[in-house]
Amino acid sequence: MQRLALERLLRKAGLKPTEKRIAIAGLLFDGPTTKHVTADDVMETARRARVRVSQATVYNTLNQFCAAGLLKRIVIDNSSTFFDTNTDDHHHIYNEDDHHLVDLPMMAIDTDKLPPLGDGETIRSVDIVVRVGNK
Ligand SMILES: [Zn+2]
Repeated sequence: MQRLALERLLRKAGLKPTEKRIAIAGLLFDGPTTKHVTADDVMETARRARVRVSQATVYNTLNQFCAAGLLKRIVIDNSSTFFDTNTDDHHHIYNEDDHHLVDLPMMAIDTDKLPPLGDGETIRSVDIVVRVGNK
């Protein structure tokens, strides 16, 4: 994505397009494919692209992007959090051996058979992680 498009993306999300934010957004939103990345992945990509950012900046920026709706946080467990460039409602398949996350379309899992909700309750979102491992 071009610099101007990145600036526009950040402004539209209500974020000031600082150099660090533009650099990190450039690493995340550089193509049409969905990305599931960890903060460590972003650090490594930044290092390879010779973008100088601290770990704290990466964490802060990823959190700001989540709060602004540019990324979706996928918490696998206490030690694994992914950031997803696909912010639409969808599920995931997580390979616990390879630590790999892939999208699973909403329609792949039938949530119509959930037990009735309590009075005054409504479903806000359903995000399921199917955990798999290598045989
Ligand atoms: Zn996803």
